[in-house]
Amino acid sequence: MRGNPNRVLWLGSVMSLISLTLAEPQHFSPWEKLLLVALLIASGSLFWRRFGAVLLKILHSKKDSDFHLAPLGRRTWNFFWEVLCQAKVIRERPLPGLAHAFVFWGFCAFALVTLNHIAAGFGVGFLDPHGQIGQFYFYLAAAFAVACAVGILGLFIRRFLVRPKWLGKKVSYESGFIAFLIFALMATYLASFFVSDAAPAARGLWWMHTLALLVFLPIIPHTKHLHLVLSPATIFLSRGGFSRIPPLAGDEDFGLVTGKDLTQLVSLQAYSCVECGRCSEHCPATNTGKLLNPKEIILGVRGYLNEFGPASDVPTLGKYNSQEAVFQCTTCGSCEYQCPVGIEHLPILVGLRRGAVNTGTWEDDHGSKLFLALERGSNALGMSATERDKFIQKQQFPIFDGTQEYCLWLGCMGAYDPKGREIVADFARIMSWLGTSFGVLRKEKCTGDPARRLGNDLIFQQLAEANLETLAQNKVTKIVSICPHCVRTIQEDWKEFGKPPEIEHHSEFLARHAARLPRQDHAANHDRIVYQDPCYLGRYRNVYEEPRTVAALAGEVIEAPRSHQRSFCCGAGGGLVFLGEETGDRISHTRAKELVATGASTIGTACPFCNSMFRDALATTGEATPQLMDIAQLTARALPQDGKSNGSANR
Ligand code: SF4
Ligand code: SF4
Repeated sequence: MRGNPNRVLWLGSVMSLISLTLAEPQHFSPWEKLLLVALLIASGSLFWRRFGAVLLKILHSKKDSDFHLAPLGRRTWNFFWEVLCQAKVIRERPLPGLAHAFVFWGFCAFALVTLNHIAAGFGVGFLDPHGQIGQFYFYLAAAFAVACAVGILGLFIRRFLVRPKWLGKKVSYESGFIAFLIFALMATYLASFFVSDAAPAARGLWWMHTLALLVFLPIIPHTKHLHLVLSPATIFLSRGGFSRIPPLAGDEDFGLVTGKDLTQLVSLQAYSCVECGRCSEHCPATNTGKLLNPKEIILGVRGYLNEFGPASDVPTLGKYNSQEAVFQCTTCGSCEYQCPVGIEHLPILVGLRRGAVNTGTWEDDHGSKLFLALERGSNALGMSATERDKFIQKQQFPIFDGTQEYCLWLGCMGAYDPKGREIVADFARIMSWLGTSFGVLRKEKCTGDPARRLGNDLIFQQLAEANLETLAQNKVTKIVSICPHCVRTIQEDWKEFGKPPEIEHHSEFLARHAARLPRQDHAANHDRIVYQDPCYLGRYRNVYEEPRTVAALAGEVIEAPRSHQRSFCCGAGGGLVFLGEETGDRISHTRAKELVATGASTIGTACPFCNSMFRDALATTGEATPQLMDIAQLTARALPQDGKSNGSANR
C-alpha cells in the first residue's frame, strides 16, 4: 500500500473502530436470571421506599391554586427549552452547564440502552448489536457515553477539587459516589465494544454495568439527585410570570404559617433543589454577609417537610428557616432568575413573611411605622398629603380630567422625596416639550408595593382597591410612571382586585420618542454613563435596552461588570428601603463601589429607589464621585430653557 504512513495508520484505526460491536453475553443461566430478578426487586423497592415517601409529602401538601396544566403550549416549550435543551443550565454557567448537559443527554440516550440491557439479561433484548439499527444506536450511545464520562469527570473535579464557595462548606461524599457510578456505567458500556460476545469479560462487564445501575437507582431519592426525577415536573408546572406572588386563598389563608400551608408546588420545588448554589451566588443579601441564603431557605423548607411533614402545626419559621433571614430579602429576583430547576423563591419568601406579619410574630419598629404610614397617610414616606398638593401646585402640573392622553403616576417617591420630585419634574418637562398631554391625579395613594412584598396583604388590598376606584372614576386608560416598582405593582399585583389601566415606565416612553429628543454632543460633554439596571425594570419587566437608548442620547454608555439580567440590586426592594440598618455590608454601598470603579462620570438610574440608595451610599465615600442622574434628568438637561414645546399636542 502506498501513501502517507500516518494517514494509512489513522484510516486503519478508524476502520477497526467501525468494525467494533457491542458485546452482549448470549446466554444467561437460570441462576443468573434469578439473581437479576432479586436485584431488580431490591433496587426498585429501595428506590420506591424513599421516593414514595417524598411523593406522598408532595401530594398531601395543600392544594395550590396555581397547580394546573394550562397553558400547555408555554409549559411544553419551557420543558423543551429548559429540560431537553438544558438552555438555562448552559446559559448561566457555560462550562459546568455544558458538562451537566452532556451527562443529561447521555442519560436520555441511555434510556433505551438500559431497557435493552435488562431485557437481554432475560434473553429478550430488542436491539441486536449485529443488526443495522442496533449497531447504529449503540454507536450513537457510545458517542454520548464518551461525552457523559467527560462531563461527569469535569463536574467531579469542580465539586471536589475546585470547590466554588457557593456549593457550601459541607463536602457531599454521596455526590462523589454518584459521580463514580455514572462514570462506571459509561466505562463498562464503552469497554464492551472491545471484547467479543463469547469472552468471559463480556459477562463480567455486563454484570458490572447492571450492578452500577441497580446501586445508582435507590441512591437517587436519598440525595440531591432526586432532581433527576422531579425537576422536569417542577419546570413544567412552574407558576410562570417572573416572581409572581400568588394571591391568598381566602380569609383563612395567612401565608406559610405552618406545614399545613405549604402547597404542593412549594413542596415539589423544595424537593427539586439540586443544591447548585446559583441562587446564593447572585443574591445581594448573601453577598453582603446577611443571614439570608436563598438556597438554605429552600433546603430549610425541605428539612421542615422531612421532619414535620405537610400536616404539621409547627411554625415554618423556627428550626429550619429564620424570620430574620426572610425579612432580609430585597425581592430582587436574582435567585429565581438563576435557578435551573424552576424553583420560585419569591412566593416562598413572601409567603413566609405573610405568615409572620399576619400572625403578629414579626415585630419591627420600622415595619410597624411603615404600615401605620400606609394606613393613615396612604404613602410610604409618612408625609401629609398636603405636601403632595403643594408640589403639584408648585410644578403647575395639570390635574387629570379624562381629556389627556396620560395619567402621570407620581408614586410616593415622585410625590414626596426631594430627588424623586426632581425626576418627575424633569420627566413632565420632557412630556410637555414633546407635546404629549398628561395630568396627575388629585388623590393618589401608594400602590401598596412595600406592603405587598413585606407580607401585609390587608394594607395592600386597601390601597390597590382605592387606587383602582380613583382611576376608574377619572377614566384613566394610560399611565406612565418613573418608578419600576409602581409599574410592576399596578400592572401585575393589582390584577387580583380589578383591571388596571395600561401602564409603562418612563424609559419605555422616552425610548419610543428617542428620535425626537435632543442628542447631546458626546465629544463635548465627555460624559461616560454607567447604567444601573433596576431589578423591577430588568429582570421583572425585561426592559434593558430602552433606558440605555435614552442614556445614549446624553453620553457614552458603559457597562458595570454585573449588568442586564445579572445586575446587582441597590438594596431597596421588598420594602427594605423603609426598614432599619442592614446587618453586614450595605448592599447599596457594595453596588455603588462597583459602579464608581467603572470610572464613569455619571451613574444613570431609572428608578427613584436606586437613586435614593446611591445618593446616600455615594455621600459616604468622601471622594470625588460620579454624578447621579435619572435618565429623565439626563435627557432634560438638553432641553431648551424656554420650555417651548417641540410637539403638536397640548397639555
Ligand atoms: S430575591 Fe434577591 S435578595 Fe431575595 S433571596 Fe432572591 S436573590 Fe436574595
Ligand atoms: S434553589 Fe435552585 S439555584 Fe438555588 S441551589 Fe437550589 S437548584 Fe440551585
